Amino acid sequence: MTEQVLAIDVGGTKIAAALVDDTGAIGRQTEQPTPRTADPDEVFGALATAVTELLEPGTPAPRVGIGSAGPIDEPAGTVSPVNIGAWRGFPIVPRTRTVIKELTGSEPLVGLAGDGHCFALGEHWLGAGRDLDSIIGVVVSTGVGGGAVLRDRLVGGMTGNAVHLGHITVDAWGARCVCGGYGCVELYARGPGMVAAARQAGWTGPDDARALTAAARDGDPIATSVIDRGMRALAAGLATTATELDIATVVLGGGVAKAGDVIFEPLRRHLRDFAVLPYVSELEVRPAVLANAGLLGAAALAFGLN
Ligand SMILES: [Zn+2]
Repeated sequence: MTEQVLAIDVGGTKIAAALVDDTGAIGRQTEQPTPRTADPDEVFGALATAVTELLEPGTPAPRVGIGSAGPIDEPAGTVSPVNIGAWRGFPIVPRTRTVIKELTGSEPLVGLAGDGHCFALGEHWLGAGRDLDSIIGVVVSTGVGGGAVLRDRLVGGMTGNAVHLGHITVDAWGARCVCGGYGCVELYARGPGMVAAARQAGWTGPDDARALTAAARDGDPIATSVIDRGMRALAAGLATTATELDIATVVLGGGVAKAGDVIFEPLRRHLRDFAVLPYVSELEVRPAVLANAGLLGAAALAFGLN
């Protein structure tokens, strides 16, 4: 039997875990709701339960990849996810190592990456970027996240937070962002941001990005204009990232991207204004293809450990 690694995907609503082989085939898998609690150990209990369900006691410890909402501190093995308030500087890597050692009797290798990085790793390995050695991955949903793979290697950065696409400034005179900066991509391009902007402009549809993209598809002028503005901000952020990293392909995923052409058309059009240097002038945007890129990216991370 080929080696299986343990992939763990930690999000604000659920913690998913799976055994994955080197073709990307998913074996046993499980999912736990992320506990809504202020107790860090209670949140970790859900992760430990998921791991315990998958591993046979006494079998050798698998290599482990953890993808987590950020920010993270990769060298320290800690996470402080914005959407899991109980975890601030939480030592997820040492704690996971301990649980697995208790179960299996051996010490596992454990890798940690941000969820945007795992998305990029997954789409690069098995998804829309599988024919390329370099891609930028971007996820647009309630937030904007990203990551990049350059010549088949994850661009991690010093702390594991590189390519933080949502919080690149695209308007130096823009509004204050939750991150403390000003005029970040996320302010304009995230789903709830576009819905709020539409409301301010008099849109009366439901508080939901899917309703907004549906309205744009039906030709609603407010929805169309707000999405156009959001995608111009995203285009500026993406072009900046592509120009800095010298990568000419973007894979776009997340709930908002699922709306299809009403998102991709304005995004591609605005990119022409910002991706102007010759090496990114053909900057291509592909739709993501994987339903579970984050989990598969965590598996890719595990396969890279040695
Ligand atoms: Zn920000």
